[in-house]
This record gives sequence, C-alpha cells and structure tokens, in this order.
Amino acid sequence: MNRATVIDADLDRPQWVKSIPFLAVHLVALATPFLVPPTWRLLGLSLAVYSACMFGITAGFHRYFSHRAFRTGRAFQLVLALLGTLSVQKGVLWWAGHHRDHHRYSDGDRDPHSPVKRGFWWSHVGWILAARHDRARPERVKDLARFPELVFLDRFGVIVPVAFGTALALVGGLPALLWGFFVPVVLAWHVTFSINSVAHVLGSRRYATADESRNNAVLAILTFGEGWHNNHHFYASTANQGWFWWEVDLTYGMLRLLSLVGLVSDLRTPPAHVRAGRPGVTPPRLEEDGAATRQVGVEHAL
Ligand SMILES: [Zn+2]
Ligand SMILES: [Zn+2]
Repeated sequence: MNRATVIDADLDRPQWVKSIPFLAVHLVALATPFLVPPTWRLLGLSLAVYSACMFGITAGFHRYFSHRAFRTGRAFQLVLALLGTLSVQKGVLWWAGHHRDHHRYSDGDRDPHSPVKRGFWWSHVGWILAARHDRARPERVKDLARFPELVFLDRFGVIVPVAFGTALALVGGLPALLWGFFVPVVLAWHVTFSINSVAHVLGSRRYATADESRNNAVLAILTFGEGWHNNHHFYASTANQGWFWWEVDLTYGMLRLLSLVGLVSDLRTPPAHVRAGRPGVTPPRLEEDGAATRQVGVEHAL
C-alpha cells in the first residue's frame, strides 16, 4: 500500500477528537431521563422543538435549498435556514452540496453516504465523522452562495443552537435545556441519518431507480414525509414526497398551509406520467465516474 493510499484511507476514519462535541451531546441526551424525569410539559417542549428541527431539515435544507422544490421570499428563506441550522447538521451550504452529490452519484462510488457501497454505519454516521466530507462543495451550491446571510450561517451557524439553548436555560432552567434541546436534536439527527442509511436498505421499491432507494412508511412518519425515498430518487424536485393519498407527508401539508398565507409558492408536484412510472421515465444506470448519465430527478433538481 503506497503513501497516497494510506492518506486516502485516513480520510475515512472517524475524527474522534473533533467529534467529541457530537458524542458528548449524545451522552447528555441519553442521561437526560435519569437526570430530569420527564413531565408532559417537557415532552411537549421536546416534540415542539423536534418538529421545528424536522421542518427546518425537510422543508428547508432538503426540499428548498437542495432541490428548489418551491419558491419563497428572502425573509422566509432565512427562516428556513435558521430552523435547519438549529438542528446542528453542519451548514446549509454543506448540507445541500453533499445532498446534491448524493443524488448525482446515488449508490455509486462517489455517493457520500451509500450503505450499498460502504456499509450501514458509514452511511448512517461514519461519513459525518470522517474528514473526507468535511469540505463543502462550493461548485454544487453556487445558487445558494449568492446570499451573504446563507454563507454567514453556513460558517457561523453554531450561534443559532447556542443562542437557543441559552434562552431555554434562562427561561426554564436545566430541565428545559435538556428536554428542549439535547433530546430533540439527537432524535432529529438519527431520524435524518436514517434516510441515508435505512431508506436505502429497508422498504419497498415502486420505481426502478438506478439506486437502492426505498419507500418506508415508518420513516415517513418519523421524518414528516421523507421516508418516501424511492419516489424522491425517481423524481427529486417535488415539494411533496408522498405522491398518493395514503403516503403521509406532514411537511407537504405544512407547505400547503404556508402557501395559503403566501409565505411559499409554486410547490412542484410530480406530473401524472412520472407518478405512473411510465417506461422511458425510468433513469438509466448512473456510471461510476459520473460522466455518463444523470438521473431524471437530478435534471429537475439542479
Ligand atoms: Zn437517498
Ligand atoms: Zn433529495
């Protein structure tokens, strides 16, 4: 094994020292029920913050910033970025850039987090701890980098959860901080990560996409609609990911409500021929070097 290969392999190892805050937050969340027994009030607070985080990730970081699946004004765009940033999943540009790569190379060698190529734990959390994907993908997010407030949040986003946690502690003390921040954020992490890991392994495949994406009803409920991941890989640019009445998609419901009051508009939905999965719409296999074909959803997404 030559030196370059060793250095390259190093990039995939967990950065344990740098990951101490990430691990410490887990320990605090796990200890919380023993430190402060839950009350209905505290559980309600947890649920509210979890919902805000999930909406920030699903409607904001994913459907809006990564896929431009609907339109909104600059002020509400900032609100979406702030909610997503509250979830402490690195920055908005980092998130969207890597996610666009996930669609571009889905389950191929250059997919940042394929369970098919690299195993379940790599796709769930290993890729986040490794140095390989620390770097942002500026070439993928030029459309977002036009906004200085997004660039600022991408770089200094830690102030959002710190300010929120401080406010919780000042108003409700330690119980509010633990149940209103640590618990819901860790839950939102692993539910989000499950889309990268579980939703490419467990579930059904309605559409013959070039990857292993699955539709998974349990994940769809937990993630407010992201579990219809096979639909999403088939045609990525839609504001709804549940395409049939029985496919629960809470995020889309909330976006519909927001469109009624004019905060968002132009919610994209799949054309009938896409939902029907007609031959010819099915994307061809993506080549490993990324040079050959692009998936049909990606064409609409970027
Ligand atoms: Zn995926
Ligand atoms: Zn996506």
